[in-house]
Amino acid sequence: MQRPFNFSAGPAAIPLEVLERAASEMTNWHNTGMSVMEMSHRGQAFMSILAKAQADLRQLLAIPDHFKVLFMQGGGIAENAIVPLNLSRGGEVDFVLSGTWSQKSLKEAGKYAHTHVAASSEATHFDHLPDPAQWQLSKSAAYVHLCSNETIHGVECHELPDLKALGSPAPLVIDFSSHVLSRPVDWSRVGLAFGGAQKNIGPAGLTLVVVREDLLGQALQVCPSAFNYELVAKNDSMFNTPPTYGIYLAGLIFEWALAQREGHLAGIAALEQRNIHKAQLLYDVIDRSDLYVNPVHVANRSRMNVPFFLRGDDGKPLLEATQPRNAAFLKAAEQSGLLQLKGHKSVGGMRASIYNAMPMQGVQALVSFLQDFEQHHA
Ligand SMILES: *Cc1c(COP(=O)(O)O)cnc(C)c1O
Repeated sequence: MQRPFNFSAGPAAIPLEVLERAASEMTNWHNTGMSVMEMSHRGQAFMSILAKAQADLRQLLAIPDHFKVLFMQGGGIAENAIVPLNLSRGGEVDFVLSGTWSQKSLKEAGKYAHTHVAASSEATHFDHLPDPAQWQLSKSAAYVHLCSNETIHGVECHELPDLKALGSPAPLVIDFSSHVLSRPVDWSRVGLAFGGAQKNIGPAGLTLVVVREDLLGQALQVCPSAFNYELVAKNDSMFNTPPTYGIYLAGLIFEWALAQREGHLAGIAALEQRNIHKAQLLYDVIDRSDLYVNPVHVANRSRMNVPFFLRGDDGKPLLEATQPRNAAFLKAAEQSGLLQLKGHKSVGGMRASIYNAMPMQGVQALVSFLQDFEQHHA
């Protein structure tokens, strides 16, 4: 049976090979007579799973030795508090607002630090990433927060800013939840990166943090021990019981990612190339059509999350999912095996999330459907 294509923004599709491998190992992992879920997190079997997952991730993303890789819990939203608890020293922090996620981060950080908005595209409904050359960075910020892929608005930062060149000595913190593993990361420009797992890494419940060593050891007194990066790092992500099954699944995804090939490219480079082609195909069809519209500036469009609107007969974007043309679209899509295309309720319209696990055939099927629907229904 051909599985339907799942365009969910998260929890999102996982490669079928990975699910099948996990299923085959579910009740008896490598002849231990146990499921990974049933193992002691301090036993040899799980320790080997954790070590391999860490090593494979380091290789995939070319993470330098002076960064720690932490497997935590609480998701991206908990990091909105955990980052300022660990890095702000109660002082000032700069925020770049480019969508809903950075807005949420700003609000939460305000409980622990003095927040300063260095740039915002809210006035134009988050349709672009403010140009770094125009950011009003503070002189004394403890860090600068940027959501490097805004999942809801479909705005991606395609080249991380060099804060030093912009006159700020502060480290850059990125929320890369929704595009981690889709492209390489320029670690020379990053102090800390965090992301929830449920987009490109695996099941919900695991949070990835990659942090430069010199940023450890400055947590506020009130920071919960389980969320103190220095303690988590010292205990190799075992300060408390880690989400063991999530780490195992993530490890299978890392293996899968390392094995990907596109021509002569391998691993992340292969995935990036594939993601570029998938996104190009979809945006091209949207841009060439009279029915569909994507409002994001071309230079800032996300390769992972593609929001789009159907137009009404008056040419205006249709927001409400219950609006008859939108409802007909979603119903026909589902009948064609294209699931979860409804946009986030805060912006309306449609959204196709095309993470690593979405194959080219899935995007081709969506594109054919878009063209077909335009011809027959609009
Ligand atoms: C999905 C997402 C989060 C989510 O956080 P959870 O706590 O796991 O719900 C945070 N930031 C971004 C950019 C996201 O896309």
